[in-house]
Amino acid sequence: MKKHNFSAGPCVLPQEVFLKASEAVMDLNGSGLSLIEISHRSKDFIEIMEKARALALELLGLEGKGYKAMFLQGGASLEFLMVAYNLLEHKAGYLNTGAWSDKAVKEARFLGDVIEVGSSKDENFNYIPKGYTIPKGLDYLHLTSNNTIYGTQLKKFPKVDAPLVCDMSSDIFSRQLDFSQFDLIYAGAQKNMGPAGTTLVVVKEDILGKVSRKIPSILDYKVHIDKDSMFNTPPVFAVYTSMLTLEWLKNLGGIPAMEEINDKKARLLYSEVDLNPVFNGFAKKEDRSTMNATFNLTDDKLKETFDAMCKEAGINGLNGHRSVGGYRASMYNALSLGSVGVLVDVMSEMERKG
Ligand SMILES: *Cc1c(COP(=O)(O)O)cnc(C)c1O
Repeated sequence: MKKHNFSAGPCVLPQEVFLKASEAVMDLNGSGLSLIEISHRSKDFIEIMEKARALALELLGLEGKGYKAMFLQGGASLEFLMVAYNLLEHKAGYLNTGAWSDKAVKEARFLGDVIEVGSSKDENFNYIPKGYTIPKGLDYLHLTSNNTIYGTQLKKFPKVDAPLVCDMSSDIFSRQLDFSQFDLIYAGAQKNMGPAGTTLVVVKEDILGKVSRKIPSILDYKVHIDKDSMFNTPPVFAVYTSMLTLEWLKNLGGIPAMEEINDKKARLLYSEVDLNPVFNGFAKKEDRSTMNATFNLTDDKLKETFDAMCKEAGINGLNGHRSVGGYRASMYNALSLGSVGVLVDVMSEMERKG
């Protein structure tokens, strides 16, 4: 039986994407060759790469606005370093909203000064800092739109007179935003777009080429743009499967339609967390993520019962991150409202058993 997959990443993808991807592994478009044995320079694969990049820009509403999309390797973690390599000359600002932004800061410090403009470390990152001041003259400001581990999400983005860089690994394509307010967006595929192995980077071209350092080719965004994301052999399976997910999203009605479904899922789950005395939410209400909902049992002695009931209902991947504990229900784009309903039923059954 197919499980209800609440895993934080790698995550659930649409069933039709699994099917099409597995067909292509056996035989790509009736070519008699597998997706993973053809040349990445073949017409078939070049078309796939171009389509994936075009779909990403189209869905984000960034076509014809000076942006380029790339599919790279090294995960979002390599972007922590690449962003700084390509953009950091003197000093950059980082909003510290959790472990991932912390890691981004650590990498950037290899290359220049980093100013932490705000942090929610004092309360184990259960909220988004507000009212912080952003110093003038930054090379860029770096944000993390959704904090996968703690279940917090930025609802508003600051206006700055510096390029705005955002790690959107765990909420890209999940909600409507004016994406043109960002100059660089990156996202590891495996949270909301595809399998692990590729990272989407969308950059406004005119922010590049401003640092004085020499950039090694593989870390240079300009090289990857010039080579159409084929500087070296791209991760063909991850790119193809991401492309299929983006097609699925487009056919569904794009981000506006997706957001409506995601809001329904989040409302359903959080209302149960709030009304059910057996559970407590972790993140501050106004900062709650629509993607990752974090909650705890009010009485830890109920853990065994709850875990067994979840297992029985076919629920997978609900354990919280080790730094937060408790539970985390990740409700990425491909997780159905029905799956959230199954979890909510188990939660209310817990209350009845009390
Ligand atoms: C998972 C995650 C990362 C790390 O992604 P990798 O692709 O494993 O390097 C970075 N940022 C956020 C917000 C994440 O959720």
